[in-house]
Amino acid sequence: MKTILTGDRPTGPLHIGHYFGSLKERVALQEQYRTFILIADAQALTDNFENPQKVHDNIIEVTLDYLAAGIDPEKATIVIQSKMPAIADLTIFFMNLVTVARVGRNPTVKEEIKQKGFGESLPFGFYAYPVSQAADILAFNADLVPVGEDQVPMIEMTREIARDFNRIYGPVFVEPEAKVGGRIKGLDGNSKMSKSLNNAIDIKDSAEETAKKIMSAYTDPTRARKDDPGHPDGCMVYAYHQIFTPGHAAIKEECLKGGRGCVVCKKELIANMNGYFAPIRQKRIELGNDLGYVKDVLRKGIIKGQEVSGEILDRAKIAMKIDYRDILG
Ligand code: ATP
Ligand code: MG
Repeated sequence: MKTILTGDRPTGPLHIGHYFGSLKERVALQEQYRTFILIADAQALTDNFENPQKVHDNIIEVTLDYLAAGIDPEKATIVIQSKMPAIADLTIFFMNLVTVARVGRNPTVKEEIKQKGFGESLPFGFYAYPVSQAADILAFNADLVPVGEDQVPMIEMTREIARDFNRIYGPVFVEPEAKVGGRIKGLDGNSKMSKSLNNAIDIKDSAEETAKKIMSAYTDPTRARKDDPGHPDGCMVYAYHQIFTPGHAAIKEECLKGGRGCVVCKKELIANMNGYFAPIRQKRIELGNDLGYVKDVLRKGIIKGQEVSGEILDRAKIAMKIDYRDILG
């Protein structure tokens, strides 16, 4: 059985970008792959180190999203990153295999640094997160990593690290493949819905919250009157109709001709979106009332995750000649 590793940062509850970009796919793939899902708390701290409570509280939120969306703890193992000492160890060793210039060329890191406005106070830990993310993946020797498009440069770097390690020390690591899901745009028209950009519809949002967010979504700014011809291609409401509304091609036609009012269009979307997420949201509420079960899932995941990653770390240390069994017995 091949292995999958994916993960999310516990920086907020998961949104529909996570759901359609990655989570839905993971639910399907857990049937055929040995699956590990990593809650990247150490990575979340790289740009939230002054806000530990947020990271702490979102461990449970993200776990609730996983379980409500259909992740089955009998098939998939949920692991908390900071509870895996093997990941921290591998990060240190992998840092030797990556140049500062190489990280500097990573387009996602570049964009995030700009977006977060770090300037001169860029934390070294944030700059190094692609290396610790490589350790997340290689600590489980994943074959496949389902991710959003923004993460492709990270997987490329992970492959390079695995290749260099194997060449220098001997074959220990699998070079993982990325499996790229579609990118979902933000309510504000940004090319990425993101927890940190405040432009997301969360999986757990109520029907009312969803409606409120869609009513204020970015649409077509050039459209003053209801019967003006619209521009569906730049409109977020149409972008989401493409996900939630069968027969959305007809909506586009109508809009282009000026035959469709935005309010009606939004209301239709709200109904479809809320219909789609109703069972998931219901399940999430039920799980929220049974936190004993949720915590148990996390405890079991930690034990299994430590076992698997610990074994791979041992092999890496033997290859690197820092096992010292020959000296110490
Ligand atoms: P943050 O703003 O804290 O970075 P995020 O919303 O980017 O949060 P992450 O936890 O960084 O979420 O991402 C987890 C996974 O979900 C990654 O594989 C990422 O590519 C994917 N993902 C995140 N946002 C989207 C989106 N809008 N569309 C598709 N996939 C997404
Ligand atoms: Mg992100």
